[in-house]
Amino acid sequence: MIARQTAYVGLGANLGSPAQALQQAAQAIGRLPSTSVTAVSSLYSSAPVDATGDDFVNAVARLETALTAHELLHELQAIELAFGRERPFRNAPRTLDLDLLLYGGATIDERELQVPHPRMKERAFVLLPLLEIAPGITIPGHGSARQFLPLVRDQSIRKMPAAAT
Ligand code: ADP
Ligand code: MG
Repeated sequence: MIARQTAYVGLGANLGSPAQALQQAAQAIGRLPSTSVTAVSSLYSSAPVDATGDDFVNAVARLETALTAHELLHELQAIELAFGRERPFRNAPRTLDLDLLLYGGATIDERELQVPHPRMKERAFVLLPLLEIAPGITIPGHGSARQFLPLVRDQSIRKMPAAAT
């Protein structure tokens, strides 16, 4: 058992009912051992960049977890599988993609797991929802996340209206 860490997970989907998939995925993350979800951003929709298919829906969740970064990655991969993700070819449309963006102040550079997520600084669909729930967040090794916003401002992305519950 290790001390609880704050982690941020990027959620994305572009098949089926993406908004519903993200909501259910966030609930599944909240049921992981020694883990609670303490914030979920609004949903954001954007056109696919390196993938085919319908618009993507993305969000970011903040967790408090006693899982290690690797344990968390494996649990996220199990949730992806449970949502029926299939990868017939690279960048194929997928039902659910869960990326570990940040894990405390950790930097990990292994083939299986890189934290901070190497492409998070270039993606409006990560930066916008992340900054919504963590405006002052720092990306270890890179400074404040906010400073990268100007670099993604040409990416077309819309904050979706909150769903009626
Ligand atoms: P994408 O980069 O579009 O999310 P995939 O989800 O298919 O592409 O990538 C999954 C692979 O990325 C897995 O093999 C996983 O081990 C690796 N990986 C490396 N770092 C991370 C991370 N921070 N979060 C999630 N997967 C990661
Ligand atoms: Mg992924």
